[in-house]
Amino acid sequence: MPAVAKTDFAIVIHGGAGTINKASMTPAQQADYERTLKAAVDAGYVVLEQGGSSLDAITKAVLVLEDSPLFNAGKGAVYTYDGGHELDASIMRGDTLEAGAVAGVTNVKNPVLLARAVMEKSEHVMLAGKGAEQFAKEQQLELVANSYFDTEFRLKALQKALESMKKQPHQASLRLSPNWQPEWNMGTVGAVALDKQGNLAAATSTGGMTAKRYGRIGDAPIIGAGNFADNSSCAVSATGHGEFFIRYRVAADICARVKYGGISAAEAADQVIQQELKKVGGTGGVIVMDKQGNISWPFNTEGMYRAKRSAGQVAEVAIFQEVTKSE
Ligand code: ASP
Repeated sequence: MPAVAKTDFAIVIHGGAGTINKASMTPAQQADYERTLKAAVDAGYVVLEQGGSSLDAITKAVLVLEDSPLFNAGKGAVYTYDGGHELDASIMRGDTLEAGAVAGVTNVKNPVLLARAVMEKSEHVMLAGKGAEQFAKEQQLELVANSYFDTEFRLKALQKALESMKKQPHQASLRLSPNWQPEWNMGTVGAVALDKQGNLAAATSTGGMTAKRYGRIGDAPIIGAGNFADNSSCAVSATGHGEFFIRYRVAADICARVKYGGISAAEAADQVIQQELKKVGGTGGVIVMDKQGNISWPFNTEGMYRAKRSAGQVAEVAIFQEVTKSE
């Protein structure tokens, strides 16, 4: 039997992009974010190290971030205009291109588990609202009261958003406006991994945008916009102003540039984030990994919560432009 070449494994995660500056963060807050990002990337790394699948690794990492009140996913999700929470999530595997997504769920503790159940246990790709919640119940996933997702910090962000919307009443008018303030929403989470079997996978989970209305759904649950994984190109999880990420089908565009344009995943991600999106005012960033385990994490905002860890390496955690912690 011929020897099978050992494929490196790696994982990269994000916890949202936006207006993050050192001045607006206390050292204690920064340490909290860094600790949680490291815990999440390590949780995924252990799975990969033990020979587990990239799918299991990204699920584990996203669960840590969904359960943390620091991020806009699961506990700590942003508030809708009406003062509740509606969550979106998706997951995709790069070997079969199977995918699962959920939109506008209000009572599922961990939306990433529901997205995964949609992929593995239903014949559909995306379920929304009441139907998705019915499916969660049938799958015996943990259900919670909507108030479980509440946090003081996000409530203040809603109040600030509502104040500013008084001056510019329709959120739709913010859609293409530089007045959209990413710090209201920041904290969407995502993970991308490559396992020892050589398979890529990607997951994204979010509470969406603060003060969103009318059942608004962002890019996170849209396969090809906020999430994509294809072994023949790369895997991507996005964070940012979802309306732009949908219109510019960001994740799929990056992978298509790799697949058909023959450029590296890092170059493709850079083109889309720093050129295509930037010139139209689309703020945000992506984490990207190719089949060789090369990682890139471009963003056109002040910062992006992020961490990565490749086989045999220590974890690198970063918030601002420069890498802040490596251990
Ligand atoms: N992309 C998310 C959305 O538009 C928000 C974010 O990443 O901050 O729903």
